Amino acid sequence: MCGIFGVANHPEAARLAYLGLYALQHRGQEAAGIVAVDDQGVARVHKGSGLVSDVFNEDVVRSLEGTTAVGHTRYSTAGGSAEVNTQPFLVRYREGTLAIAHNGNLTNAAALRRALIAEGSLLQSTADTEAFIHLIARSRQETPEDQIREAVLRAEGAYSLLLTVGRVLYAVVDPRGFRPLVLGRVDDAIVVASESCALDIVGAKQVCALEPGSFVRIDRGKVEDLEPLPSRESRRCVFELVYFSRPDSVVFGESVHQYRLELGRQLAREHPVSGADCVFSVPDSSNAAALGYAREAGIPLEHGLIRNHYVGRTFIHPVQAGRDAKVKIKYNAVREIIAGKSVVVVDDSIVRGTTSRGLVRMIREAGARAVHFRVASPPTTAPCYYGIDTPTREELIASSHPVEEIRRFLSVDSLGYLSLEGMLHASAADPNRFCHACFSGEYPTDIPPEATTSGFVAEAVIHDS
Ligand code: AMP
Repeated sequence: MCGIFGVANHPEAARLAYLGLYALQHRGQEAAGIVAVDDQGVARVHKGSGLVSDVFNEDVVRSLEGTTAVGHTRYSTAGGSAEVNTQPFLVRYREGTLAIAHNGNLTNAAALRRALIAEGSLLQSTADTEAFIHLIARSRQETPEDQIREAVLRAEGAYSLLLTVGRVLYAVVDPRGFRPLVLGRVDDAIVVASESCALDIVGAKQVCALEPGSFVRIDRGKVEDLEPLPSRESRRCVFELVYFSRPDSVVFGESVHQYRLELGRQLAREHPVSGADCVFSVPDSSNAAALGYAREAGIPLEHGLIRNHYVGRTFIHPVQAGRDAKVKIKYNAVREIIAGKSVVVVDDSIVRGTTSRGLVRMIREAGARAVHFRVASPPTTAPCYYGIDTPTREELIASSHPVEEIRRFLSVDSLGYLSLEGMLHASAADPNRFCHACFSGEYPTDIPPEATTSGFVAEAVIHDS
């Protein structure tokens, strides 16, 4: 996944982008970057590998002069963290400077790249996002908005995009609206962000959540709605609400916290546990679901697992720590809460099953009398081609094992997954507007042809999400 943030009409645009990227750090920890553009259309870029705090410091932020900016936090969904793929991309073409930041995955990325190479394009990165740049530059349309429109209409799949042409900022959401994008205002400036928590950090008030197919032009604080992209049925990513987004965000017009509370309540109705002493979450992504479960079931909520927040993605696991090292480095059990108890453990999802298995072993070692595992989403059975980092189908434990086998693999007394219906109806809005392909296998688009042969990881294309 990735986080994107755009600013228009602010004297310190890069500073706002920097703050916004901090709030979007959870969407991508591999790399970060900002492009700032001044009123003369001169663009300055700084980007690098690592966390926002690793990549930027005060001097760098100050050097990024300009009133328009776009920023990106990157999480590559198919390996390949080469610096050349770090966003935003910045080029110069006939209309001036062009910068782009992308959240999502294109399902026709390989075909687009092949076509571009055949037509003579020289591709510099291995990221699907680069295709947009070439399509815009090659377009024969007269205005930047028509060039952008022509380019995005050749793309299929998931894209929430922020672009700058000179100092003008554009925001585009694909016709199904897989990935979120919100627009806000602070003083005379306009900001656009993946999640509303990034508006809060810069003191911006949300004006709207951009609808699927939105195409917006922002110049000097004036927001102009351009003709939307051809309409398709909405397919908002339900996993944004289940796991990915921050609970203090409003995503797709819905409070992530409230949604997760409701997932937990519904989970308690579908899979009650009699005689349990306490409920606790696998922190932090399932905190709200565990709270909902506890409230609905009338069982006390405890903090039975503690998470270490300082574990970076690049942590080198010491060999002697054994097979549970990864889990032990990230979590520890609170013996005083668990010993002698029958516990309900709530997690948001099970992917490979390895984390849950390690956690259960840890909870048993802390003296639990019984462990009841509850999952606030249905079994994850199918890979995502729209920007969530999921392993191949074979690695998804639920793609080939029924619930009872997973229960035995995890070594729990009982295991309950939320139903698909239950998950969709936890939404305060229309439950039919979601993409739930990772749970149902119902893909709303054609999936990449390479996915059906050798698994999704197409060697030639690195998908930024
Ligand atoms: P696993 O051991 O593969 O079953 O991992 C399950 C854990 O990973 C759950 O606690 C989830 O909160 C978390 N998780 C689910 N999806 C993702 C994702 N796309 N990226 C990172 N973590 C995830």
